[in-house]
Amino acid sequence: MTERSYEKYFRQNRLPHLWCPGCGNGIAMKAIVQAIENKGWTQDNTVIVSGIGCSSRASGYMDFDTLHTAHGRAIPFATGIKLSKPNLNVVVITGDGDCTAIGGNHFIHGCRRNINLNVILFNNDIYGMTGGQASPMTPLGKKATTAPYGSIDRPFDACNLAQAAGATFVARSTAFHVQHLVKMIQESFDNTGFSFVEALVQCPTAYGRKNRMAEPAKMLQWMKDNAVMKNVWDKLPEEKKIGEKFPIGLFYNSESETYDVAYKKVIQAAGGIAK
Ligand code: SF4
Repeated sequence: MTERSYEKYFRQNRLPHLWCPGCGNGIAMKAIVQAIENKGWTQDNTVIVSGIGCSSRASGYMDFDTLHTAHGRAIPFATGIKLSKPNLNVVVITGDGDCTAIGGNHFIHGCRRNINLNVILFNNDIYGMTGGQASPMTPLGKKATTAPYGSIDRPFDACNLAQAAGATFVARSTAFHVQHLVKMIQESFDNTGFSFVEALVQCPTAYGRKNRMAEPAKMLQWMKDNAVMKNVWDKLPEEKKIGEKFPIGLFYNSESETYDVAYKKVIQAAGGIAK
């Protein structure tokens, strides 16, 4: 049997994975691995950190140095790694509930401090693992176990939130636009600073079944029909930005002093030896 180049990046003894058939998490996980390979990072210089939730199971399948941490706390763990070993590439895998609810404060302060992390948010619009509760990113009117008549909470736009809080790279893609997703993740790896990519992934089990999209293909079709490339989106008149349409692509890319560099200066100013 031919071994595909990326198979070495997965712990074969942990497979098959526990994700539901048709779940989009595997697509996003593979996109990360492909971006790592394209970028030339290795299993020895890359650390994967995740929180809790369906998406966060990815760290268990990926054959790198990995940490599967506490709910919402992936960014603090990743911060510790980056400050103690700045030369390592640190990738955080998180979900919409993990990142913007339980870990919401860690997320905005990670952006604010410009910690040199690569955060990939698998957004399935719901809490999948814990039973389909509404998350801060569940769209208005969509159903969840905690919103049986449709969510009335206005959702976060995590990309806007990241940019407003100070992230230096912000992009969005979907599990349908696989090559585009790989490109966005790879470009986020090129940025030195707090890089954030939102990857929309389908959850046919918890989200789809409640919202008349139980078939994975239907959810992917929805992404295809509603995602608009940013360069096209920017030229659309406001009256055409209607319904469930949303932009994908690169929203922001800049450079500024990262927290590990600033921290090193503090250590030196205090007379210590910075690594
Ligand atoms: Fe994927 Fe949803 Fe199943 Fe979780 S509940 S594994 S997100 S399909």
